[in-house]
Amino acid sequence: MTKEILEIKIGVLGGGQLGKMLCLKAAEWDIKIHILDKINAPASKYCHSFTEGDYTNFEDVFHFGKDKDIITIEIEHVNVEALKALKKKGVQIYPDPEILEMIKDKGLQKQFYAAYKIPTAPFKIYATKAEILLDIEKGEIKYPFIQKSRTDGYDGKGVQYIASNLEHNTLLEGGSIVEKAIAIKKELAVIIVANQQGEIVSYPTVEMVFDHKANLLDYLIAPADISEKIDNKCQRIALKLAHLMQYRGILAVEFFLTKDNTILINEIAPRTHNSGHHTIDACNVSQFEMHLRSILNLPLIIPKLRKSAVMMNLVGENGYEGAAKLQGFETAIAMEEFYMHLYGKENTKPYRKMGHFTILDKNPKKALKKAFIIKELLKIKS
Ligand code: ADP
Ligand code: MG
Repeated sequence: MTKEILEIKIGVLGGGQLGKMLCLKAAEWDIKIHILDKINAPASKYCHSFTEGDYTNFEDVFHFGKDKDIITIEIEHVNVEALKALKKKGVQIYPDPEILEMIKDKGLQKQFYAAYKIPTAPFKIYATKAEILLDIEKGEIKYPFIQKSRTDGYDGKGVQYIASNLEHNTLLEGGSIVEKAIAIKKELAVIIVANQQGEIVSYPTVEMVFDHKANLLDYLIAPADISEKIDNKCQRIALKLAHLMQYRGILAVEFFLTKDNTILINEIAPRTHNSGHHTIDACNVSQFEMHLRSILNLPLIIPKLRKSAVMMNLVGENGYEGAAKLQGFETAIAMEEFYMHLYGKENTKPYRKMGHFTILDKNPKKALKKAFIIKELLKIKS
């Protein structure tokens, strides 16, 4: 990078909460972030410039990217062909478009793990629902199983748990994978960061607790309540994956710790991630700062937790839809070491991610207890 850091134009595809949190960090360093997304996206008020457009559309992405030095993403469902064309023109792209293309497709992702013998839940790829029904009939698929659409899934959408033949009506039609339902003890995650020079570091493993009604992260615990051996193993697998892909940028790696204590990789996300939101308030360096360091090829520092933390997602209350109203804020902020992050989405609907909060405490059990008290207080209704 020959330009002065403050002159570098960084374009981000997507201006949701991840884009907004990146802009807030970048503003501290007076680094300029340009966002492409739909009007009123959460990041639109916090970026250096905002371009209204569709990040899945070739023309919109190419036009947006051609005067930028660096393009990065906050969502993987973007137009990869445009990113390839921009790369040819000399724009630096993070993550690399070829890698992004693989990760975007859960089928290709799983084939990658299989090719490199990285343990993952057994799976098979299907083109249609009819093919799945045929394999069920032949006894090749056993209940319960998980069906995941190959592309465009997010936050549990596009993932189905099929317990019996009574649930065939919920099977998704298009290209999908079928996975063995794993007996999960804990869900874990590690964030990896790599810069151009090939420096690469990992965050300590966190534990993710899901709301299985919504298939959505409910809260996370950092550090994960696991042995040092399992923590190290997760970090090692995540680092190995990043090396295999020659990954540059930020990467989140999700794992299952099974009831018989094996570690399976679930999926990866080539961007900042919900499993790293606690890093803003609980670590020496946040995932957003590390994202900037990686794409600007700045030195990486070793991420460390300063204190135990619980991060809870604040989602739209069930039964409410429309203009969002927050309840309980004044009471919640009376608590020390409570850190609130509201994304600025105008409208709420059930389970929509509207914000998150982090609680720090030397004692992890106390942090969790406090988080549950706050969860009862803070409600997003309409
Ligand atoms: P998303 O893109 O929505 O994050 P995931 O593939 O991570 O999709 O699946 C969402 C959640 O569904 C996981 O975090 C886990 O709770 C559950 N899940 C996914 N795959 C399996 C599996 N093979 N066995 C059991 N549960 C699973
Ligand atoms: Mg996931």
